[in-house]
This record gives sequence, C-alpha cells and structure tokens, in this order.
Amino acid sequence: MRVADVARGMARAGKILLHRLRRSGVVSARAYARYVVANAYLRVRSRLARRPRVACPCCGWRGYEFRTIDCGTFTVPGAECPHCRGHERHRMLHIYLTRHCPVFRHITGAALHFAPEEHVSAILRDRPGLRAIHTDYAIEMIRHHRGTAFQSDMQHLALADDSVSVIFCLHVLEHVPDDRRGLAELRRVLRPGGAAYIMVPFMMGWEKSVEFGAPDPEIYDHYRGYSPLDFEERLEVFSYERIDPKDFLSPEEIDRYRIPRSQVIFRCTK
Ligand SMILES: [Zn+2]
Repeated sequence: MRVADVARGMARAGKILLHRLRRSGVVSARAYARYVVANAYLRVRSRLARRPRVACPCCGWRGYEFRTIDCGTFTVPGAECPHCRGHERHRMLHIYLTRHCPVFRHITGAALHFAPEEHVSAILRDRPGLRAIHTDYAIEMIRHHRGTAFQSDMQHLALADDSVSVIFCLHVLEHVPDDRRGLAELRRVLRPGGAAYIMVPFMMGWEKSVEFGAPDPEIYDHYRGYSPLDFEERLEVFSYERIDPKDFLSPEEIDRYRIPRSQVIFRCTK
C-alpha cells in the first residue's frame, strides 16, 4: 500500500470518527476506533505470518485471521472473511448444510430466502431441486437480485399455506416489529416435511431479551436484542432442533473457521 493511500485512509477514518462522536457519542466512536486499529494491525500482522491459521469454508480463503467487524456500539474480532466478506453465521451454515445435513441435500421445491445474502444464494444455486425465492422488506435490497424476488413484510406474507419447502431467515427477526407474528407466518407457509433455518444475533451475557420499542439506529435498526437464554420461547410454534457449533465441528474446526458459541442454527419444522 502506498503512503498516499495510507494518508487518504487515515483522513477518511478521522472524518468518520468525528461524525460518530457527534452523532452517537463516545461509545460508538470508541467502537469505530477499535475496529480501524484492529484491522490495520491485522493487515500488517497478516503479511508477517508464515502459515495460515484460519480458513473460510465459503470461498476457500486461508490466512492469519478474519477481520474485526464494527457493530455500532461494540466490535467483533475474527468475524469477517477479507475475501468473500462472509461472517461467522455464513461459515457455520455453509459447513452444516454442505457437510452435515443430509436432509437438505434431498429436499426439493421452493426455498424462501429473507434478506438475501450471496453466501446463502450460492448454496441454493448448488441444489438444482430447489427454486430460490428472494424477499426483503426493503425493495432496494432485491431490485437487482437474479431470479425470483418480491417485496414482503414477514408479518403478512402473500404466500399460500404449506407453499415453501425451505426457509432461510438469518439475522432478520430482530428487524421485524412483531417477531412472534413473523414466526407464525413462517410456520404457516412452510410445508409439512420442509424446514426453516433460523439464526439471530445473540447478546451474549444478557439474561433476558429486551424490546427497544423502536428500531435502534445504533445497532442497525434492531427492534430488540435477543438473549441466548430465552430466545427459544419464541420458537414454540415450531418443532425445532438447536444446532450448536460443537454438535458437528471438532474443537480444531471451531478454531480454524472461527465459529463462536454465539452462533446457533435453529432447524424448525412443523
Ligand atoms: Zn470467504
């Protein structure tokens, strides 16, 4: 990297830091500063590393460490692949679906994919028996998506009962005003024998989930923070299986793919 590029990067980071300080206060600015410093250190450290320590199952990248991500008021180290931008949830779901979920290999029909992400779309493209349907509350998120797509509100889905075989709902429920209503809709449209794969961001250390009452701009407009201790109460409309990393990965794999215990897949059926 040239000196001019470094200077430009520092100037840009300084502007963003000031903006965060003015708009959101010290906690937000501190999170951004930590994010910038951690990734700058990582760039240097990665060049000095002799052999890779981590690997991304989504794209095959291998390297010293995944990047730190900025979550508004806190940072998560070792989260983002610098090559495909996959996060912990994408790595876990990729390994689970492609290596450890034989049922998924044989399932056919419509696959409803909320807030479409390329890492999940790539898995769906590899399953010729599945017909992907992409959907999002925000039209701009699906306007340029390849294939079938429609705008939707999860609380009122314009789909017939028992009409989809697979549902992917990753880090979406926290954006839905009434998530219980949304889950009831997922159950309604899921056909018997099908499966909904649900993941949410957990606030580790929280004893109870907390409703914010409105979208919180400090954490990506989430309506609530989910505690890992009570989230499952919301899944009672389904039969479900809780899949933790240790259920299908060895300690060495958990370390190599950097998948923390905050990552949980809920495989829901009816
Ligand atoms: Zn990757």
